Amino acid sequence: MENCLFCSIIEGKIPSTKVYEDEKTYAFRDIHPMAKTHVLVVPKCHIPSAASASEVPDDVLAACLRACQKVAQSEGIIESGYRIVSNAGPDACQSVPHMHFHVLGGQKLSESMA
Ligand code: AMP
Repeated sequence: MENCLFCSIIEGKIPSTKVYEDEKTYAFRDIHPMAKTHVLVVPKCHIPSAASASEVPDDVLAACLRACQKVAQSEGIIESGYRIVSNAGPDACQSVPHMHFHVLGGQKLSESMA
């Protein structure tokens, strides 16, 4: 989609630090990390947010969760633990309207989620 930051990153028009890629997903380091490990997993097709999940093919949704696992594995946090966060909409402070999953870890995370 035109004028979508993450679509531009996926297309390589805007640089990113790639962590993982497969047919349906792309993962790269967050530019403003909120934890020692902070990677964003995005579907290659444009989906505005998790609030559109009912319109998204099951294989794309499954690929996103599986990519989060692959990232956790390659980042060495699969055993220590990690958090997957997907902000959807204004109250969640979603700032990029292309569905994405924050994979956070590499340190003890806050018990508070909100
Ligand atoms: P959210 O606030 O949940 O929509 O998350 C958007 C995330 O994208 C934020 O954590 C930003 O730091 C991150 N971000 C914005 N621009 C870039 C970029 N060019 N490269 C990597 N991460 C970015």
